[in-house]
Amino acid sequence: MEPGMEEIPVKVAVRIRPLLSKEVLHNHQVCVRLVPNTQQIIIGKDRVFTFDFVFGKNSTQEEVYTVCIKPLLVSLTEGYNATVFAYGQTGSGKTYTIGGGHIASVAEDEKGIIPRAIQELFQHISENRNIDFHVKVSYIEVYKEELRDLLELETSFRINRSILTFYGLVFEVIVGAKEFQVECADEVISLLESGNAARHTGTTQMNEHSSRSHAIFTISICQKQFTESQKNTDAAQDSSWKSVQVIASKFHFVDLAGSERVTKTGNTGERFKESIQINSGLLALGNVISALGDPKRKSVHIPYRDAKITRILKDSLGGNAKTVMITCISPSSSDFDESLNSLKYANRAKNIRNKPVVNYNPDQDRIDEMELEIRLLREALQNQQVSNQCTHNLNQERTRISSLEEQLTRLQVQCFSYRNCVDEAFPFLVDLNDDVSLKRSQRERLQSWIAMVQEVRKEALTLQETDMGTGTSQETHHITILQLKRELKKCQQALVMDEEVFSQKDHELQILQNQIKTLLQKNEEHLESLKEAQETHRLQNEKMVEQQMLIDQLKEKLEKFTDVKTLDFSCACGHGPAVVASTRRPYSVPLTKSLLHSLHPPSGTETRKAYTSPPAFSLARVMAEFRARSQMILSNIEDQDKVLHCHLSDQSDEEEENTGSKKKTSF
Ligand code: ADP
Ligand code: MG
Repeated sequence: MEPGMEEIPVKVAVRIRPLLSKEVLHNHQVCVRLVPNTQQIIIGKDRVFTFDFVFGKNSTQEEVYTVCIKPLLVSLTEGYNATVFAYGQTGSGKTYTIGGGHIASVAEDEKGIIPRAIQELFQHISENRNIDFHVKVSYIEVYKEELRDLLELETSFRINRSILTFYGLVFEVIVGAKEFQVECADEVISLLESGNAARHTGTTQMNEHSSRSHAIFTISICQKQFTESQKNTDAAQDSSWKSVQVIASKFHFVDLAGSERVTKTGNTGERFKESIQINSGLLALGNVISALGDPKRKSVHIPYRDAKITRILKDSLGGNAKTVMITCISPSSSDFDESLNSLKYANRAKNIRNKPVVNYNPDQDRIDEMELEIRLLREALQNQQVSNQCTHNLNQERTRISSLEEQLTRLQVQCFSYRNCVDEAFPFLVDLNDDVSLKRSQRERLQSWIAMVQEVRKEALTLQETDMGTGTSQETHHITILQLKRELKKCQQALVMDEEVFSQKDHELQILQNQIKTLLQKNEEHLESLKEAQETHRLQNEKMVEQQMLIDQLKEKLEKFTDVKTLDFSCACGHGPAVVASTRRPYSVPLTKSLLHSLHPPSGTETRKAYTSPPAFSLARVMAEFRARSQMILSNIEDQDKVLHCHLSDQSDEEEENTGSKKKTSF
């Protein structure tokens, strides 16, 4: 059933590109040549390498395809997996060779491997109408260990991060890229084109990115073929479906990251290693190739798992695929070191041996993909089970014990009541044995029963003695134990209930505490606003005091002013009404007496002072004037303090009134 189990080596091709026009312009020298009529390459003066295929600067795309890839395509249609790698430093012609550039802008004979393979595959399909073909393609990029789906950019960087939740555990698994079912070559070409575009516009640092990333274009085909015998036995419907042969196979086209080292300086001995360290994937690939290629290291561990690229291409290296590696070389002597490294790398790959097999089981690939998932799940499950098992077992034991205890209690109670019955019957039957005349057989049976009971009692007694030492109050003990057990059970139940109540109360307490917290918070807020109000109040008081001071000052001024007025009046007395008064004085009591009375309480001195005081009517006028003025000043101040006014509460209005009344009293 499985032909071709023999090991076949990975085929290694080397392609030397021509000098680019800019290199010609800069007068670069060629340092790599083909040895005519051999599969050999000379680099520098004398280093010779032999490969499966060598292509010089004049080789065509057609030639490379026909020699290296056509046989793989045939294998693909036969059910084998196939892979082609393009390896080499940036600018050595990998993308050109594999055909991952802008296809539309490339002339027909300049087209690379992928478009040619697509064309040929669909040609083959159209020539084999009897076979039911299903073709799917995917295109992914691996950059810094991240996978990106070039055909479905929205899902970029997610395809390798499928999160699975399993038994409450969360972990990542690697799942494949989206596969597009395709019907014709044009459809695939347009997908390829859009993927290529995505690869180059995926980042602002376009060159940096594309030279450091691996691109993998995959064509998967599934073919269903009906064998001859079924066609002849159309009537035997049920047997026909069984003999449908399903074959699934895949072709990976891999445009690897540039193999050059980051810096041009470096230790010569370390160069090979250094050159591939620019990309951990390439390093891992190198390790896989080394492990596979080293004849002494047969059957040792192959580090496929070290990088995504090696995981994905596991079957292409040392696996079941037919693989071709095309190493691209720049001929320029300025790239000598890189070219030499690439040739060494390619030389090692020659030793890799694959065992290609036809994939009759179409689910095989899916199974392979799921392998990792399953392993992860299994590990997780085991971990979970270990922890679950303990608690589970413990719980089981507990329930078993408690059920056994219950059973025991029941049995003990039963046993106790039986014994009571026997105990009651025993003396009665012993009496019966003595008194009543029984038949011989009956008596014998009764006696044997009595003997049996006695025997059992004796046994029980010795058992009790060995168990407890003293067996005198065994029954009461037993009852006590039973009662205690029952009580214990009750207590336990009560405890459980209490615990429930406690947790309920705890919960309530929590709620209350929360409420207290919010109330405290509110309280604090209120206090804050109270403080603010007090502050405002204080400020208003200060203002009030200021006003009071102003009033006092004004009063003082007024007093001074009054004094001056008084003086004026006393001066005026000589000429004005005072003259009249003075002329009248000898005849009468002072005129002002009644008025003075209203202002100053009468006393002996007051009456005497009346002679020197200003005339009462003028003082009253001055007072009125002053009142009017102070009223004006006050209203002025109040106008200026409108804002303050607004803030004044009823209380401050009262205060104002108070001040007013004070004013009145002080006058
Ligand atoms: P890489 O993918 O290895 O970085 P490219 O495929 O982009 O290199 O090639 C670099 C340049 O060299 C491109 O301009 C390409 O057209 C040109 N080139 C590469 N190989 C050949 C070839 N065999 N014949 C003609 N031009 C080539
Ligand atoms: Mg490239």
